[in-house]
Amino acid sequence: MKKILRKTLLYKSGVEYADYCLNHVEGCSHGCTFPCYAMMMKIRCGIIKNYKEWLQPKIVANALELLDKEIPRYKDRIKFVHLCFSTDPFMYKYPEVGDLTLKIIERLNKDNIRCVVLTKGIYPKALVDTKKYGDNNEYGVTLVSLDAGFKKRFEPYSAPYKDRIKSLKYLHDKGLKTWISMEPYPTPNLVPQDLLKILKEISFVDKIIFGKLNYNTKSSQFKYNEDFYQNCAEAVIKFCKSNDIEHHIKYGTQKKDNRKTEKIFIKNIPESFKLKYARQTTLSL
Ligand code: SF4
Repeated sequence: MKKILRKTLLYKSGVEYADYCLNHVEGCSHGCTFPCYAMMMKIRCGIIKNYKEWLQPKIVANALELLDKEIPRYKDRIKFVHLCFSTDPFMYKYPEVGDLTLKIIERLNKDNIRCVVLTKGIYPKALVDTKKYGDNNEYGVTLVSLDAGFKKRFEPYSAPYKDRIKSLKYLHDKGLKTWISMEPYPTPNLVPQDLLKILKEISFVDKIIFGKLNYNTKSSQFKYNEDFYQNCAEAVIKFCKSNDIEHHIKYGTQKKDNRKTEKIFIKNIPESFKLKYARQTTLSL
């Protein structure tokens, strides 16, 4: 894999349910065609030229050195670190990416910083070693369909759906916290499918985030777009409530946003950290 150097790594994310974030790879071989928002931004900013370049990920060779410098600086402010929003931390068939991700999780956990991870790849079994990686991280996979034809069109080089679920279930069975990002969920004119059937496949998880598909002309042209997403959101909420799963519906998906659930990943903070955070919040008021 090609390598690049960066000047900074940790940053405060603008995503409503996230806190700090890092991306230790430039590009992503999964090549999603929803389209991929991260790729669109990188092209717009002139960082990469096109889709072909996006498909050839470059690893940030100084990621661990940057963390050593940045952790002491941000430690007291960080509630958790999300990996990743602009690449995939367990990129399918790229073990080099997964190896670096494991080192990053270990490094963050060493300073009691929780990680919230999201992938369209496969989780390594090594993560069950909670002495090395901690037991307070949350591991998620993106799952918006079970249809292999849809995956081929929209997430062509990511891991098969069944394999993603299997690796997540393994972590769950070993006592780790798991979640699903059901975003960007496609409209029926892209793939006709049964939402409940997908939910039933992943009913073991602790949390579900559901969100609509943006930036896709065909999806926004779907005549019943608004009602469709409203109904889907209601079905997800109902399913989560009856299965004791926490949920958050991404803003813009329902006709009226519910902001009460946006702190979905803050609830697992240990009591000692909550106290510290409460004091910080009070001081900054
Ligand atoms: S997995 Fe995420 S970062 Fe990678 S191409 Fe797909 S949407 Fe983009």
